Amino acid sequence: MIYLDNNATTPLDPAVAEKMSQFLKEHFGNPSSLYPIGRKVKEIITEAREVIAKAIGAVRTEIIFTASGTEADNFAIRGVLDAFPEKNEIITSAIEHPAIMNSADYLEKKGLKVTYVPVDKYGTVDIDFLRNAITPQTSLISVMYANNEVGTIQPIEQISKIAKERGVLFHTDAVQAFGKIDVNVNKLGVDLLSISAHKIYGPKGVGALYIRKGTNIWPLIYGGSQEREMRAGTENTIGIVGFGEAVRVMTERKDKDKKRTKKLSEQLKKGIEEKIPKVKFNGHEKNRMKGTLNFSFYNLEAEAILLSLATKGIYVSTGSACSEGAEDVSHVLEAIGLKPEVARSSVRMSLGRFNTEEDIKTVLEELPEIVEKLREISALDIDED
Ligand SMILES: *Cc1c(COP(=O)(O)O)cnc(C)c1O
Repeated sequence: MIYLDNNATTPLDPAVAEKMSQFLKEHFGNPSSLYPIGRKVKEIITEAREVIAKAIGAVRTEIIFTASGTEADNFAIRGVLDAFPEKNEIITSAIEHPAIMNSADYLEKKGLKVTYVPVDKYGTVDIDFLRNAITPQTSLISVMYANNEVGTIQPIEQISKIAKERGVLFHTDAVQAFGKIDVNVNKLGVDLLSISAHKIYGPKGVGALYIRKGTNIWPLIYGGSQEREMRAGTENTIGIVGFGEAVRVMTERKDKDKKRTKKLSEQLKKGIEEKIPKVKFNGHEKNRMKGTLNFSFYNLEAEAILLSLATKGIYVSTGSACSEGAEDVSHVLEAIGLKPEVARSSVRMSLGRFNTEEDIKTVLEELPEIVEKLREISALDIDED
């Protein structure tokens, strides 16, 4: 198997699997219990929280565990709106993950105003548009750190400055960025930031929201007093342990992983551009998570490419996995200006820790052949643009 869909999810790192299975066998206590087996679990959770906080330049008390990156995103948006009932506007971008997009949709249905900041053809948000969109009614700006479909990195520090000047809270969805590029909450200047374990070789079903000390935000989920009364519910102890270990491993390997991914990704990009005619690279050449490659293959349906590759054991994605099966084209590719038929021909390949040179070589043997065969039988004939 050649797995080139690491932006959708990542395999568990063996060290994470080991740590989790050890924990499962040894600990079942409720971290809220005051006797030793509960206290011990509480301690283990605190260690994980510490590791995660440190990795993003935060302190332990600023990390609230959630059930996913999606929940962290929902928490940020709904929590801030609840805290500022007199304000009824938020600003986000046109290329957010569905976790933000569909939350924004919900707010619009409830009568709030949402402004979507457009992006240029490389997927970078229009800063001037954003600045001008802020009104006294704006409570929150939410712009993702790096895009999951095309990999483009946003000018988060710049947006932070604008938000601060105007007294608006700023959230960034760093779920995709975390583990691939540097994430430091102080350097970025954000108030709120979402991360998720399964995108960094940790388990699924656990994420976290960073909340800068002093930020006015209400809980999303009410109940017991877990997570400093900001996120009720008995903790996903096994998930948190795995998340902590995934971050520990990530911190250890960060530079090595980054360098390897960049090298392999450059090989793959160059190979595709040399061997396959009529392709279009989507995303930013430089300001991009290097392991994310999004290509349009003119005159083809991306799904046909995906399925042909899958028969060879090569796994890629068409746009975002979260919208898989949806009829309409990716809102991200639409926002960067692709025609629908070009967007529908777009395949995302996302590299990760466990890819090898051999993987890239195999893909560069199989993919050109598949594209050529499919084009022979394709009825489409679109001009390049
Ligand atoms: C994967 C992803 C999410 C959702 O995280 P889950 O833990 O899968 O809910 C949110 N935002 C971005 C940018 C993502 O890539």
